[in-house]
Amino acid sequence: MPQNRTVARLLFAEETDMGGLPLRQPLPTSQVEQHDPFLLLHHLTTTVQQSDYPYKLGVDPHPHRGFSPVTFVYQGGVHHRDSRGNDSVVWAGGTQWMNAARGIVHSERPPREMQEQGGVQEIVQLWVNTPKSLKMEQPAYFALQAEDTPVISEDEGGVQIAVVAGEYKSTRGPVNSPSTAMVLRLTLQPGGRCTLPIPADHNAMLYLLDGQVMLEGYGLVDGQHLALLNREGESCTITARQDTRLLLLSGKPLDEPLAMHGPFVMNTQTEVMQAMRDYQMGKMGMLFE
Ligand code: MN
Repeated sequence: MPQNRTVARLLFAEETDMGGLPLRQPLPTSQVEQHDPFLLLHHLTTTVQQSDYPYKLGVDPHPHRGFSPVTFVYQGGVHHRDSRGNDSVVWAGGTQWMNAARGIVHSERPPREMQEQGGVQEIVQLWVNTPKSLKMEQPAYFALQAEDTPVISEDEGGVQIAVVAGEYKSTRGPVNSPSTAMVLRLTLQPGGRCTLPIPADHNAMLYLLDGQVMLEGYGLVDGQHLALLNREGESCTITARQDTRLLLLSGKPLDEPLAMHGPFVMNTQTEVMQAMRDYQMGKMGMLFE
């Protein structure tokens, strides 16, 4: 029997206001700067109002450098456009994964159908840090729809596991991450039980969007909580007490200095200043909508 990992910290997804959008942010907190290589987790549920002004909704063009912003779509859709000509809508069950690398400018908006009809948009955004040696590589963008995401069924269908990145029991996720990571989207029915292997050299964490699970060796974890796991052990075993949606995120820690400012994640303050200058000079490209 592999040893189950224990919980280092249980973080509540506090509600914060980001430019008028009420969103939940369990990471970072005033106590926890990162769970290397994971820097940030946002959970946003919003009602999109019908609008005649499509470029007022969502997030206007903005740059990123040095990490991968990842958006898991749970309800509705997200329309991504960027300075490299990518233009796509990812719907519920899909994942947008961007390796910002040396720099890219993008916008993130509700798709046209949602602007015309209104509707609920629910997303989780994750920031995965990029190793120093790869921060200045070319950017890449993956629009992974639900139907293109391999799904593994366990416990007679009581647990569905969608593999976005990394390898789970010899099924590979389609996304190429510059950081070594395993990213799984799980849906569990009440009673659904599974043991998830975690690579020994990874940091791992579990985010519950809703529901409740029994985490073996720890106890109950409720929705809107992020459980940071300790490094010892090669698995975690969960049993759902309710219908539960959760993310299992594991990644090899970078153990590198962190200099993070706004949309730039570098290793030194000088590199952050350089990123600001490069953006202002148009070196990350331009996006005209
Ligand atoms: Mn962004």
